[in-house]
Amino acid sequence: MSRIQFTGIALSLMLAVFHVGAQPANPGPPPHDFSTVDIKVEDLGHRTYMLEGQGGNITVAVADEGIMMVDSEFAPLHDKLKAAIATATDKPVRYLIDTHFHLDHTGGNAAFAAEGATVVAQENVRKRLGSGTEGMNGNHMPPVPQSALPTKVYRDELTLKLKGRTAELRHFPAAHTDGDTYVYFADANVLATGDLVSIGRYPYIDVVNGGNLNGMIAAANALLERVNDKTRIVPGHGPLAGKSDLLAYRDMLQSARTRVEKLIREGSSEDDVLAAKPFADFDAKLGANDQASQNFIRAVYRSLKSGASTRSSSSP
Ligand SMILES: [Zn+2]
Repeated sequence: MSRIQFTGIALSLMLAVFHVGAQPANPGPPPHDFSTVDIKVEDLGHRTYMLEGQGGNITVAVADEGIMMVDSEFAPLHDKLKAAIATATDKPVRYLIDTHFHLDHTGGNAAFAAEGATVVAQENVRKRLGSGTEGMNGNHMPPVPQSALPTKVYRDELTLKLKGRTAELRHFPAAHTDGDTYVYFADANVLATGDLVSIGRYPYIDVVNGGNLNGMIAAANALLERVNDKTRIVPGHGPLAGKSDLLAYRDMLQSARTRVEKLIREGSSEDDVLAAKPFADFDAKLGANDQASQNFIRAVYRSLKSGASTRSSSSP
């Protein structure tokens, strides 16, 4: 099977698995034709940029000897991303950091690695990419080729340096997945959160692959400690954000937990909780459709049902 065929199949699977739960205010089918995607480049100052195309947001930090890049969207967007980066700098990508394993964030691994980038991730990302994973709807994602695997992995914390720039990487266990990393560029005061944070839509919580609402809340609290009023936050999905957006997001997650915990205590099944529409006010605020709302309810319910121990557990 050619790489293009493989990528196409993996891509359809991932779109099926990961995009159902993350409907924006204006939901539409994800474009299988990536030729229609435009990459928007936003200058955040201090040689730091946010790129938005299709898939997870990207952060680019330019150092004297090259670029540190956070996430790479879908594989077919590689050339467009390169062209977008070239509007800001002619330096090569030296480090590509995967915030987690989902293919709307890691699709560019093989192509950027082939051009000389070192792909960096938390160790569970490499495990999941290398072994293949199951999705919430029973969809199977096959292992990615060796060339797409991260070659520099870490467990809890890592500092990456290029001449003139430093990136602080930290892992939060059991949050969006079991391999999440945030990346903080202190000199620019820019925080790239990956899918630990989604703005303007419900977050996706990949409970089948080690994600849990309790970990999402713990991560949001830790990120609130890390930022100040001037920090620009590049969320995994949604527009550039600030501390007040992060606070509102954390509060929404906490309310969701409180409401569903109460329903569980009262003996509600997952279907009972769905029928109770416990997040009607959030649905209205986020413009979420029924599908997006139900996916979030299921993830919250399954997070809380999977055991109180996850609230304080750390990764194995
Ligand atoms: Zn994700």
